[in-house]
Amino acid sequence: MSAQNPGILAPAATDCEPVGAADLIQATTGQPGSKIALVALHAGYSHSSLALKSLAAHCRDQPFYPSIHCFETLVNISHQRLLEQLLALEPRVVGFSTYLWNIDATLGLAARLRRLLPECRIVLGGPEAGPRGEELLGDHPELDYVVDGEGEAAWRDLLRLLLLRQGKPGRISGLIWRGPSRPVRNPQTLLPAEALPAPIALGLMDLDKPLVYWETSRGCPYRCSFCGSADEQLRAFPLERIEADLRVLEGLQDKVVKLLDRSFHLGRERTVRLLERFAATPVGLRFHLELNPDRISPEAMAVFRQAPPGKFQFEIDLQSLNQPVLDAINRRMDIPKALANIRELVAMARHPVHLDLIVGLPGEDEAHCRDSLDRVFRLHPGHLQLGTLKLLPGTPLRAQAQQLGYRWDPRPPYEVLSHPLLGFQQIARFKRYAVLLERLWNSGYLVATLSRLVPACYQDRVSACWDDLLATQGEGIVWDKLQPDTLYERVCDFLQPWLARDALLGQLLLWDYSQFSLVTRKTPPWIAAGLCHQKTLVVDGSRRRLPLLSLSEAAVALINRRRITPLEAGRYAVWPRQRQRGRPVRVIPVPD
Ligand code: SF4
Repeated sequence: MSAQNPGILAPAATDCEPVGAADLIQATTGQPGSKIALVALHAGYSHSSLALKSLAAHCRDQPFYPSIHCFETLVNISHQRLLEQLLALEPRVVGFSTYLWNIDATLGLAARLRRLLPECRIVLGGPEAGPRGEELLGDHPELDYVVDGEGEAAWRDLLRLLLLRQGKPGRISGLIWRGPSRPVRNPQTLLPAEALPAPIALGLMDLDKPLVYWETSRGCPYRCSFCGSADEQLRAFPLERIEADLRVLEGLQDKVVKLLDRSFHLGRERTVRLLERFAATPVGLRFHLELNPDRISPEAMAVFRQAPPGKFQFEIDLQSLNQPVLDAINRRMDIPKALANIRELVAMARHPVHLDLIVGLPGEDEAHCRDSLDRVFRLHPGHLQLGTLKLLPGTPLRAQAQQLGYRWDPRPPYEVLSHPLLGFQQIARFKRYAVLLERLWNSGYLVATLSRLVPACYQDRVSACWDDLLATQGEGIVWDKLQPDTLYERVCDFLQPWLARDALLGQLLLWDYSQFSLVTRKTPPWIAAGLCHQKTLVVDGSRRRLPLLSLSEAAVALINRRRITPLEAGRYAVWPRQRQRGRPVRVIPVPD
């Protein structure tokens, strides 16, 4: 990131090719200084774009390669500075990488760019633009081309056409362009895995961010009807290429390597070999994988069991636990096997497990959505996300949506508003559940408490617990901006009837609170009273006054579900997370 310009990443030119390449452009195009820009507007600053670097890398054998500049910035800030930098570059071609979250901002930027640089060719690619190519070209005269699907070959060939006058538009894979009378959409020709560039091994990626995007394969063997990746042919990258990338990644410290592979199950032998290799990487490198839970082999499970704690993070998209609904969206999953494997992963308490559910799938009514939510919550994953179905352009489900009686937002992210079995208000209730999950479970604020409360007081139905919470605490528990102490205060109020008759619940609430905070002026009175006994202990070389709490056998049994080192029943002092600055909470046994 440029120190003078914290809002925008420096427009880093790609690795320089031999001197003389620029002269070749000059000679061939007759336009000295022809520049090319690739632009990505990100939702967050945690990673840099693998897509831009891969597009650039595929042009390495071309004379215009040194003229490619990549720009990355945030989507939700002013783009004035970016525009100024683009203007200063005076590019002849600008390519934008588009997603659901940046298409509007990208179109705004493209419109301004066209007015300022009328000669510049503007190209959109990425999963949002491709399926909407004809519509975008029709509605936005400032756009010249849209690329559908994999962009490397298309981008290279389009630049050859525009800058070197080589090739024909009708031959460029996935290009959508204005034909003589109407937009033309070219068929896609995918590159073989061996031909896809390796930006990490080539040293093109900005690896300073905490998250590094990576891929060991492209495409997906499945055909889920709501998914934009459903029809992309699966290609596994050669192991030598993966090893070359890993050699670079192994030099990094404190990074999460997020694999973009749509499914990490490409043959048992290959999968286990890669997992073993990842498990053997240095401490400080973690791998975030998307898993199909019913396809985890016993051998893969053994690797996860033996890997250092936290080496892996698992993302598992269940979507629904209703078999007819999964059938309706063409999603293959052996539900009992998936649940058994997830239980095993969670019980390991070794690597974080993130589960996803979707509300609004075809044929799923409120009762079924609740059932899926309640059953998945019983797995006690580290993170549970409840999303609303998005009817993405170009997907089979979007094509059937009218016929299925869907109403949806016509603008990105195309969320479902209602369908014949699920009304708008019912979907709105699930959105509240999603916020409560985020606030109370995924945040970690109430994990131990809910692990007791939901089974003991709500027949293990978290949806019933949320209904009661909403009924007693009102909408504010969902929509108000709440500091942790205020949140705990509302929770204490809600729990009063239960706390009076369930001592275990009280222990767990005190435990949850003590993970985050010492007792302060803002601590809710019920919690402050429960943590009134304190002891001075030496922590990290300093004397600290810490509250004491007693944990019964039943309490540690629930708490230990998330701990690698189990606790025994007894008395403990806790040095909380907010004081630990990213390090694990200190739990110190204090003999009676
Ligand atoms: S949802 Fe996942 S498994 Fe299904 S087609 Fe898309 S990428 Fe493949």
